[in-house]
Amino acid sequence: MERKVKKRLSGKSHLIENNHPMSTLDFGTMEFMKWLMEEEDTGSKHCLIVVRDFLENKYVILFDKNISSSVIVSYRESMPWCITCDTDDCGHVGFAICLKQHYDRNDQIVF
Ligand SMILES: [Zn+2]
Repeated sequence: MERKVKKRLSGKSHLIENNHPMSTLDFGTMEFMKWLMEEEDTGSKHCLIVVRDFLENKYVILFDKNISSSVIVSYRESMPWCITCDTDDCGHVGFAICLKQHYDRNDQIVF
């Protein structure tokens, strides 16, 4: 794993504005609920987030339709960090937290 010393700039990166739908953790949670319903239901794709790849405690690769771009959330000592937004409190991180909890639950419960 590559280690970089990041300079923390004040505010969000220019990619994600404050009025962006994915600018808070709560939006990520809401998007996850939508995603979960669509996973279990049919394949209609109304959610703004698509899960591209998921490796437990390593990274989550999402596709954010808001910005038409892939987003990487990587886990650092099991804390999620959004590389794209360079923050730990954007919607992508919220989504990644929910996703992890979802998979953790599924690991424990065998139907
Ligand atoms: Zn993000």
